[in-house]
Amino acid sequence: MRKFTERTLLIATHNAGKLDEFRQILAPYGITVTSAKEHDLPEPEETGTTFVENASIKAHAAAEATGLPALADDSGLEVAALNGAPGVYTANWAETPTGRDFVMAMEKTHTALREEGAAQPWKARFCCTLVLAWPDGHEEVFEGHAAGELVWPRRGKDGHGYDPMFQPEGETRTFAEMTSEEKNARSHRGAAISALLEGCFS
Ligand code: IMP
Repeated sequence: MRKFTERTLLIATHNAGKLDEFRQILAPYGITVTSAKEHDLPEPEETGTTFVENASIKAHAAAEATGLPALADDSGLEVAALNGAPGVYTANWAETPTGRDFVMAMEKTHTALREEGAAQPWKARFCCTLVLAWPDGHEEVFEGHAAGELVWPRRGKDGHGYDPMFQPEGETRTFAEMTSEEKNARSHRGAAISALLEGCFS
């Protein structure tokens, strides 16, 4: 496993919510985070059919463009009763001509479950794959999951994306009803980052 020896890590994301989570989780380790946006990097097309493929595309594109090691995240929601959908297309379900609308995406998910006649609890899991890529083409891959169920109506105002309809296992609150510290301690991204820290930063 290759070690990360720099103090600044480039996060290859244009998603402000994800970037904030990385910044918070990595701060205690003395790691400063810089973003694809700050480096004015274009958003590469996510042409992969798996989380690993998409994270790898984003990490290598950023590492090649900047000459810096870059970390990319590809994540999404897999709903058991929908055969794993939206999966790698989680962000696409929120796409509108004027940007992403996650209220619409959550409504779409709820409608799909109703149309399927899916019995509750609506089991689901968030998945997160992290790829840390170096400019010489080397990469390390880490994964994390958060198991839980989808609830309706949506609850909570915090977090981002599908957080208001996802209640992690063993909890009575959705991710959007938790503080960011509480969410990070239970989330797919928190788990993947722990594996990354253990593998490349220890
Ligand atoms: P991508 O990884 O940028 O392709 O997008 C993944 C999509 O999954 C995001 O746009 C979010 O809508 C959703 N997602 C990923 N992680 C979370 C999370 O922690 N909470 C809520 N939604 C998430």
